Amino acid sequence: MARVNQNFLKLQGSYLFAEIANRVKQYQMEHPQAEIIRLGIGDVTLPLVPAVTKAMHAAVDEMGQAETFRGYAPEQGYEFLRVAIAKNDFAARGCDISADEIFVSDGAKCDCGNIQEIFALESVVAVCDPVYPVYVDTNVMAGRSGMYDEYLGRYQNLIYMPCTKENHFVPELPETVPDLIYLCFPNNPTGEAITKEALQRWVDYANANEAVILYDAAYEAYISGKDIPHSIYECEGAKTCAIELRSFSKKAGFTGVRLGFTVVPKELKRDGVSLRDLWNRRQGTKYNGTPYIVQRAGEAVYSTEGQKEIEAQIAYYMKNAKTIKSGLAAAGYEVYGGVDSPYIWLKTPKGLSSWDFFDYLLQEANLVGTPGAGFGPSGEGYFRLTAFGSYENTLRAMKRIQEL
Ligand code: PLP
Repeated sequence: MARVNQNFLKLQGSYLFAEIANRVKQYQMEHPQAEIIRLGIGDVTLPLVPAVTKAMHAAVDEMGQAETFRGYAPEQGYEFLRVAIAKNDFAARGCDISADEIFVSDGAKCDCGNIQEIFALESVVAVCDPVYPVYVDTNVMAGRSGMYDEYLGRYQNLIYMPCTKENHFVPELPETVPDLIYLCFPNNPTGEAITKEALQRWVDYANANEAVILYDAAYEAYISGKDIPHSIYECEGAKTCAIELRSFSKKAGFTGVRLGFTVVPKELKRDGVSLRDLWNRRQGTKYNGTPYIVQRAGEAVYSTEGQKEIEAQIAYYMKNAKTIKSGLAAAGYEVYGGVDSPYIWLKTPKGLSSWDFFDYLLQEANLVGTPGAGFGPSGEGYFRLTAFGSYENTLRAMKRIQEL
């Protein structure tokens, strides 16, 4: 008799966005006239830039000609893209990462979920709290979580590292030393970044304890601060303790195109085994390569034209972020994030729970955001707004908040 993987039964329902949709639907049924503005979405809204669509059209034409047609892409990614990444994302920032340490993929979500497979099942895992849910859920599926503690709102066997205003949303080094440490900066959902000095402390801790940091830099393109590292490899010693995950989704509007990459340095070894070689083996077995058309689109992001165009898009979203941040501050809110990332994290007023604040904003301002409690126990009392809406809606939303 076939039996199901019991670990899947320990997963908490993806209750957050379903619950938001339910509450909004219910409100709309009762108030059909209400003009609801959604600042909860984590998806981009601007179209692909011309440099990218031009490259995609050219690649489509190549695929339609016998002489230039391509079949399976190389599993690690085409060299033209890996070389462009190594040069623009790493060498340009003083990081010595070579093209054969880069693995092109169909986005960071899969890589974030799959990377745990190359580590022992008994690995102790630490995550930030609040957290992007994929890190937790994929370790639950693998069987690393222990039971879910309803009272604490967390799994027993995972180490949750609180990120609150008291520690400026950067976790303390845990006393119980984990084997795997997920860090995400600039952070989703808090919108806060980490300084190079603080990240160096994590790198030193990981090297001293032979842990591995899984560094999710999906929002790297939004960094504006001078002392904020774009890559963990800007820190000394990171090549012996860190894997970095990147995405083209928020950088260049590729959420529907699908492109990302993972960096596993050759120096990174555990149990005397090269993690680069293990990841290569894993990808070679389970992944058949990112489409040629998509990789040409990615290459175009690094062209002079592409860079200029995506910078303008990011500037548009960051103007929204600034509008939200200053609008909320003017209305008396305590606000975080929104400087090096498209996420704004605010403290709910008067001790309201994050769901009570959700209902309040929906009913009084017809505005939808995301309750912080949905990202982990330390998200309670916080609320996330995003800069991915239109500028006009962002302005209208802030006006409504200020009029409350
Ligand atoms: N990592 C973080 C922190 C994210 O917020 C997201 C998407 O929202 C991803 C990874 C996934 O990115 P991708 O679209 O490349 O799968």
